[in-house]
Amino acid sequence: MKERFLLHVCCAPCGIAVIDGLRSSYDLWVLFYNPNIFPETEYQKRKSEVVRVCGEWGIPMIDEDYDASAWEEEVKGLEKEKEGGRRCPVCFRYRLFRTAETALELGFSVFGTTLSSGRNKRADIIDAIGMEAAERFGVRYCGEDWKKGGRQELGKKMIAERGIYRQDYCGCRFSLKQRHPEKESCPA
Ligand code: SF4
Repeated sequence: MKERFLLHVCCAPCGIAVIDGLRSSYDLWVLFYNPNIFPETEYQKRKSEVVRVCGEWGIPMIDEDYDASAWEEEVKGLEKEKEGGRRCPVCFRYRLFRTAETALELGFSVFGTTLSSGRNKRADIIDAIGMEAAERFGVRYCGEDWKKGGRQELGKKMIAERGIYRQDYCGCRFSLKQRHPEKESCPA
């Protein structure tokens, strides 16, 4: 019997090659938990693309809360940080701990995340947080630098073939403002 693996997916471009790589070896489920994404329309857009990818291969997807105000509370005081600064590990931790907790509650033996697929994301930081969550909840963490091994190129090809939406900023309102400082509507 295959091991039950709960994979946190941040978006379809980061997730598609990882899902495809894991789905034959595990009883793979996807968890969409990304309350960091701003605005909500963008959140819905990214989520619908993950739903589409999961649908293609019949992967069950757990749709977690969009508790954006709780996420905002979590990163309070770190608003001025740049992407890659001190706010990001807090954001990773928030999502990974929920993933590990859900994995425990639903009887998964392994959990992981696609976060390290992002070109600006450091796998060593994400993996350290994953290991911490594993220890706390008693579920094994499976992590690696998903950018490597040709997966980044493969992911790009796979999303281009399917016409999947690819965003140009990380996710939170601060990263949106950093990428598009001209957008006055962004309250960062
Ligand atoms: S820049 Fe990305 S990883 Fe960092 S806090 Fe914002 S959404 Fe999270």
